[in-house]
Amino acid sequence: MTISLPENPTDDEAVAKERVAHPFRTLRELVDYVSGKSLPPIEVEEGGKAESLPFPFLAIIGQQEMKLALLLGLINPNVGGILLIGPRGTAKTTAVRSLLDLLPSVERSLCYYGCLPEDVESGGLDAVCPDCAAKFAEGIPLTAPDRVRLIELPLNARIEDVVGGIDERAAVTNERLRIRRGILAQADKNLLYIDEINLLSDDIVDAILDAAAAGTYTVRRGPVSATYRARFVLIGSMNPEEGRLRPQILDRFGLRIIVKGLDKPDERLEAYRRVQLYLSSPRSMIGQYSEEMIEAAKEIKSARTLLPKVIISDKIARPGISMAQKMGIDSLRAEITWFEAGRAYAAADGRTEVTFDDLRLVAPMCLRLRRSAFMSEYFMSQQNEEAEISKLLTNFAAPKKAGRRKK
Ligand SMILES: [Zn+2]
Repeated sequence: MTISLPENPTDDEAVAKERVAHPFRTLRELVDYVSGKSLPPIEVEEGGKAESLPFPFLAIIGQQEMKLALLLGLINPNVGGILLIGPRGTAKTTAVRSLLDLLPSVERSLCYYGCLPEDVESGGLDAVCPDCAAKFAEGIPLTAPDRVRLIELPLNARIEDVVGGIDERAAVTNERLRIRRGILAQADKNLLYIDEINLLSDDIVDAILDAAAAGTYTVRRGPVSATYRARFVLIGSMNPEEGRLRPQILDRFGLRIIVKGLDKPDERLEAYRRVQLYLSSPRSMIGQYSEEMIEAAKEIKSARTLLPKVIISDKIARPGISMAQKMGIDSLRAEITWFEAGRAYAAADGRTEVTFDDLRLVAPMCLRLRRSAFMSEYFMSQQNEEAEISKLLTNFAAPKKAGRRKK
């Protein structure tokens, strides 16, 4: 529903100027504006640097399972993506963005086309661009260490933005057709965050999931084609009240987190205090956590280094597999995720062997919502609750003044 703001008949020049500064025409737009939903891009001052100061990950109250899942994803990308399911206002996006200060570093291509030394090793010098071929021949490195980035997929992204299209710049200057890298190629070795994944169009979701599963993807545009690496940790969030997620999509997410609001009043109060402090003086608030955040980032780095050495023995893997079968889970992805999450957890604890306890701890997030009955029940209970609330709301009004009539 859109409510129009009433026209002010006593418009003077100042009011007119005010209108220009706040480009909203309806109350709904105004509400979105003040709640930051459609915040215009921040204007960068001359010489100034636009910076975003994420809320410190360690300052998020409660939500242990969500925080654990995100950390496991940073330690071991093979957990296969993280889906955060829950209503608005449960810190899903805040938690994802707060990872920025914890992200480890990776070797990354220095080239616009993403050429890597592995390309030369597998396909020879023709497999990279001429610049990189020359560099490689001279022994100049094609990569440099770089921080893992958080790439956010805009809700209005088109399929060309996601997979890439014809590079017009190269077409004009080099008189040859090349494909411009899309968001998926940019997401290589990064985190790709998709808010409201259940609202994305099917073709885009399919392209993302196929690339995530294969780690590479090929784009064909007329006579040209290009293959890109796309090894990223996919993080999706959704509000189940706003639309269903196809079961095929759900199956592609390794870790599934049901994010609920905080239920203890003390926790809610403390969460409010921290948010309030963050909003009023972000720097000092972030400063309070900076030492611990640096420590946490170091821990993640060493867990990543240890991960390749972490093993899961048959005497633990076999009972795990039979348990997944007992739960009626058909998808092999369930136990792959489960074991990989267990390995990440062991690595986080500085150990090289997965124990039963590790698997027990991470099991719920890996195994829930694997049977389709679970999913339909979940949506069913949501619908029932909606119905109950709207029934109660029909009687939610000021009591009728019926007393006089009785007399
Ligand atoms: Zn290159």
